[in-house]
Amino acid sequence: MIAEIIAVGSEMLTPFRQDTNSLYLTAGLNDLGVSVAFKSIIGDNITHLAGAARTAIARADIIVFSGGLGPTEDDMTREAVAAALNLELHRDATIITDLYKRYAARKIVMPPNNAKQADILEGATMLANANGSAPGQFLDTVVDGHRKIVILLPGPPNELKPLFDLQCKPRLATSLPPRYLAKRMLRMALIPESVVDARTAPIYQQFTDVESTILAGSGEIQLHFLCAKPTLAEAQARVDELTEKIEAEMDDSIFSSHGESLEEVVLLHLGMRHLDLAAAESCTGGLLSERLTAIPGSSRYFLGGAVVYSDTLKTTFADVPPGLVDTKGPVSPEVARSLAEGIRSRTGASLGIAITGIAGPGPGEPGPDANKPIGLVYVALASGEDTQVKELNLTGDRDRIRYWASQHALEMIRRHLL
Ligand code: ATP
Ligand code: MG
Repeated sequence: MIAEIIAVGSEMLTPFRQDTNSLYLTAGLNDLGVSVAFKSIIGDNITHLAGAARTAIARADIIVFSGGLGPTEDDMTREAVAAALNLELHRDATIITDLYKRYAARKIVMPPNNAKQADILEGATMLANANGSAPGQFLDTVVDGHRKIVILLPGPPNELKPLFDLQCKPRLATSLPPRYLAKRMLRMALIPESVVDARTAPIYQQFTDVESTILAGSGEIQLHFLCAKPTLAEAQARVDELTEKIEAEMDDSIFSSHGESLEEVVLLHLGMRHLDLAAAESCTGGLLSERLTAIPGSSRYFLGGAVVYSDTLKTTFADVPPGLVDTKGPVSPEVARSLAEGIRSRTGASLGIAITGIAGPGPGEPGPDANKPIGLVYVALASGEDTQVKELNLTGDRDRIRYWASQHALEMIRRHLL
């Protein structure tokens, strides 16, 4: 059982408007155990729309249209769907009466073009729209021996959402065989996507009844698993079985299996071990601290720290010996180590983390750093017993280098706490 969503409206083919209705509809269809296999945005053009409708009706079981039900010339969803299904449109007298009443209540004479909002597909049920003038339509029909459910909904989200939730979902729930969707997401930091896929694909490919998706971005890989079964327990069991196998393969590379962010996991581990953290940040300018403090309750485990951008402040706030900066350069393993140890002892935190690097686009400062490459970053973690220093050679623009540096710092803390 697959669904297709067609968002109708030329405005969403411009850079200025986005189709958000389809996201809402996808979540609602998923609740019913239906996955969305196709979605598209089609401009207000009857030929294009009828073509898209024909394709959708041929390949999907449930087709949901959003928009194009208004009274204006460019609202053509009804006509396009009627053409694609070879059905007549009937002007519904009750809807016409209601439309006249709506206008009369506002003391306006109804412009005649509004009447087309009363055109209902042969065999469709009208879905009354409490928030607007165009009703929705629900058609449960058979095309070439296959059952097809075609739903037309108005485009404005405040009209579409209640129509879908209150009038379509209950109809779908009673007319479809019960299906439940179970989902899981595994998250990993800083491992190349190809490496994750090479190790996990042989496992997830054996679970043909689970839809597996690998997503990469911002120093993170996500594995998404989705399974539909007649009961939630069955669906959950399959997803859990697959997740366990992937967890056994990727082991402690997985930082989260229930959706938590890397920041949340780091704070959770600090809490479990009754430890706290302070940060000295140079090239990230507080980004790491920002990410940690964005999590509610972080103050119990994250004490704070210092943005030590200038050489002087590295000495003033984190006790880096001035001679060390002069001889090794601010972007050096020695200075990173000294920053981590300095901020730890200054704040009394159990762990001190430090980041210093060249985020670009310009080269390092004159002196020892002058010839160091853009993207060279040192991250150091001081625990009192030992201090680890990691050299990173990051690529990309300033934003990317800074974000990845903060990501490496979080992952370094997480691995230390395992
Ligand atoms: P009406 O013309 O009566 O407003 P309609 O069903 O014809 O209703 P559209 O004209 O297609 O709907 O869209 C009306 C407004 O609804 C758009 O200007 C836009 O702001 C919003 N809208 C339409 N489609 C979407 C969508 N897919 N996602 C988010 N907003 C949408
Ligand atoms: Mg419109």
